[in-house]
Amino acid sequence: MLIFNPAISFAFPLYYLCTVNLFINLFLIQAIMRNINEIIIHCSATPASRDIGAPEIAHYHRLIGFETIGYHYVVRLDGTVEPGRPLTRIGAHCKGHNANSIGVCYVGGINAEGLLADTRTEDQKWALRKLLISLKSQFPGAVIHSHRDFAPKACPCFDATAEYASIA
Ligand SMILES: [Zn+2]
Repeated sequence: MLIFNPAISFAFPLYYLCTVNLFINLFLIQAIMRNINEIIIHCSATPASRDIGAPEIAHYHRLIGFETIGYHYVVRLDGTVEPGRPLTRIGAHCKGHNANSIGVCYVGGINAEGLLADTRTEDQKWALRKLLISLKSQFPGAVIHSHRDFAPKACPCFDATAEYASIA
């Protein structure tokens, strides 16, 4: 015998709507997310003593004609990871590679003598690795590269390609 159960009759449409909503959201996120196959590491090419972050880099990038900050993430001296451009948007950080990449920048790259150098603090090293592990889990097909793999420059002043090759 079928007994009318108000709990089920009220709960089912709600459950159904939530499921539909979840599928629509997943569809939208996949529809707007770019195809990411590279994660490119940069330095800000600023003195290691200068504690700047995403707002200062965004300001500089606007001055040189970008719409906003070119990177997707900035890692500050104390290891704080600041968001830049949304991942769904194409960055402006590596000529010829922007459409399918994520740009990650640590603050520093110039030592006390004014020379290009790996100036990452221990906090930055830790935060970079943690961020890259998280990005690789989101985009398993993405290969981590140094900016210098694609351009005749020192950026990011260390061999990020080799150092992060083991992050799977
Ligand atoms: Zn760079």
